[in-house]
Amino acid sequence: MKPQYPYLFCPYCGSPLERRRTHEGRERAYCPRCERWIYENPVPAVAALVYRPGQGVLLVRRGVPPKEGEWALPSGFLELDESPEEAVLRELAEETGLTGVLRGLVAVASQPSRYYGRVVVIGYEIQADGGTPRAGDDAREVAFFVEPPPLAFEAHQILLDTFLQHLQHHEDL
Ligand SMILES: [Zn+2]
Repeated sequence: MKPQYPYLFCPYCGSPLERRRTHEGRERAYCPRCERWIYENPVPAVAALVYRPGQGVLLVRRGVPPKEGEWALPSGFLELDESPEEAVLRELAEETGLTGVLRGLVAVASQPSRYYGRVVVIGYEIQADGGTPRAGDDAREVAFFVEPPPLAFEAHQILLDTFLQHLQHHEDL
């Protein structure tokens, strides 16, 4: 799939890119000067699922576009020098002021993205173990929800629904 905003120039040498067909028949960006394919892959992100009995699930209200003002999971993109596990704890701390420990993988969800073509969101369950909830970074508000509102992102909604089903199942046992 060609992204809505494909790369126009080589990120290594700055030459205009061509769109060529690979031997598998897929159209891909190619730099004739570097003589190499330029891959456009989905971008990985992480999201935190934090639950407190009686208080519900932790959400942040977004303070920046896209979807400014809407609720989402604490989340963000991975940096090159960190693992997904490190990234999710960093994002949680930056956006909510809470520290935590990883409890496990909830699910992986993806959704189309205007700029990146597709974003893959890795959802982790985190046990918050310190700090006081306060909005930071690009979050406007932080709150726990027993009945969460619809989330800003399709992938976040899938992760939250999966997580709540797990909780429900656990409580039924
Ligand atoms: Zn190049």
